[in-house]
Amino acid sequence: MGGIPVEKALRALGNALSGLKNKIPFLKKGNDEATIIDGKKIAADIRLEIKAEVDALKTKYGGKVPGLAVVIVGERKDSQTYVRMKRKACDEVGIHSFHSELPETISEEELIDVVKKYNENPDCHGILVQLPLPKHIDEEKVLGVISLEKDVDGFHPLNIGMLAMKGHEPLFMPCTPKGSIVLLERSGVELKGKNAVVVGRSNIVGMPASMMLNKKDCTVTVVHSRTKNPKEICRQADILIAAAGSAKMIKGDWIKKGAAVIDVGTNSVEDKSKKSGYALVGDVDFDEAKKRASFITPVPGGVGPMTIAMLLQNCLDGGKRAIEGTK
Ligand code: NAP
Repeated sequence: MGGIPVEKALRALGNALSGLKNKIPFLKKGNDEATIIDGKKIAADIRLEIKAEVDALKTKYGGKVPGLAVVIVGERKDSQTYVRMKRKACDEVGIHSFHSELPETISEEELIDVVKKYNENPDCHGILVQLPLPKHIDEEKVLGVISLEKDVDGFHPLNIGMLAMKGHEPLFMPCTPKGSIVLLERSGVELKGKNAVVVGRSNIVGMPASMMLNKKDCTVTVVHSRTKNPKEICRQADILIAAAGSAKMIKGDWIKKGAAVIDVGTNSVEDKSKKSGYALVGDVDFDEAKKRASFITPVPGGVGPMTIAMLLQNCLDGGKRAIEGTK
């Protein structure tokens, strides 16, 4: 007979379902493990896309490219490393970077003058002041001077305000929470109408993440250090973003079956098996959680690489608005 044999048809159906099961949580089998969201790969893809857009701008507008000013004060080794990574990332995608390396002893006024000069420089479309600043300088005052159109970190109160308000869109959104949302979207996780829980309410991660999820039509609950029943609340989450800075605090039984879990936490813990003597772990107990989640980010290699990719994206967006005259 000409029909497809039953066995073959069932196998084809099985393959189709196994492709779908990671996208549709209820198709997950009891013993299935989560799909690991590869932040390195997604960030690398985004960086290639940004490079293509920068090249196109350059061709269309007589060599003009987005420009980022990176301002660093003092000699903190970790800050110097972050700044070096950001500048290298700019170079790789063709974004021009300006650099101000300022002494620890600089006064608040002098630092504000440096920021103001970049505000006025038409070839600079983004300004990043590496934190923390020395104790004698008021960080909020300095960040508040950065022009709204160049606030690529997305920390300006007006950008945060527009993120919070219905009917408004910020010019920039903070990079780490934005990267977390992009990881979910690029993994095909539906957000609309889902219960989302954010653990942490800091100005740079938790609070903006909760507002971004709200803008994406999630129903959002925020858990913080005074929350009485964090486990019960987390267990309701279809989407869980962990940003508490507390190593492996979120155990497997805090995770709803089929949830998508984004672990922002980056905690250094002692690990004698490592040459350095320490290892980086997230806020989520990865080995336990991956048995219940449908998607999960690893630490390292999840949210971390997205932060710089989103910074580049913000620079590109700011540069495009200025160069194309659409700001
Ligand atoms: P943070 O400023 O210390 O804020 C931590 C937040 O978590 C606070 O809102 C705090 O609540 C809450 N919290 C702390 N312990 C808790 C607990 N046991 N239960 C519930 N909530 C708790 O930290 P952050 O700057 O937001 O960073 C959070 C984590 O993300 C850190 O591990 C950091 O290293 C990491 N991070 C990673 C990246 C990246 O690029 N991958 C970027 C930024 C941060 P209260 O408000 O009540 O104090």
